Amino acid sequence: MPREVSSTLVDQLIDCAGKAHPREACGLLLGSNDVIGEVRACDNVHPRPETHFEIDPRALIEAHRAARAGGPEVIGYWHSHPAGRPEPSATDRAHATGDGKVWAIVGEGTVRWWRDGPGGFEPLSYRVTGG
Ligand SMILES: [Zn+2]
Repeated sequence: MPREVSSTLVDQLIDCAGKAHPREACGLLLGSNDVIGEVRACDNVHPRPETHFEIDPRALIEAHRAARAGGPEVIGYWHSHPAGRPEPSATDRAHATGDGKVWAIVGEGTVRWWRDGPGGFEPLSYRVTGG
């Protein structure tokens, strides 16, 4: 199955990033298999949100609990770089766990997709579908 995300969800990520500026926006990517069905904005609880992000742990727990109860899977995470490129920063690489989750990074008005793989971040290609 190809990796897919709708243009509406991509627009939503860019919109959330703009509203959070100059802070980093962050949240969860939900769906099933390789298809993202929902992007959820979460509170950035990091004490220095202009340059870092930490997804509200309560939101993470709730999403995992919902997934176990038959809800959408937690495919990965997204966050924005208010003043940087949509690529993993040194901080992002330091926080990577190699768990295979998808990371969407918003920067410079665009979204790029990565996998937190065992050997580091790898670029992913997502097919953007209409609507
Ligand atoms: Zn980052």
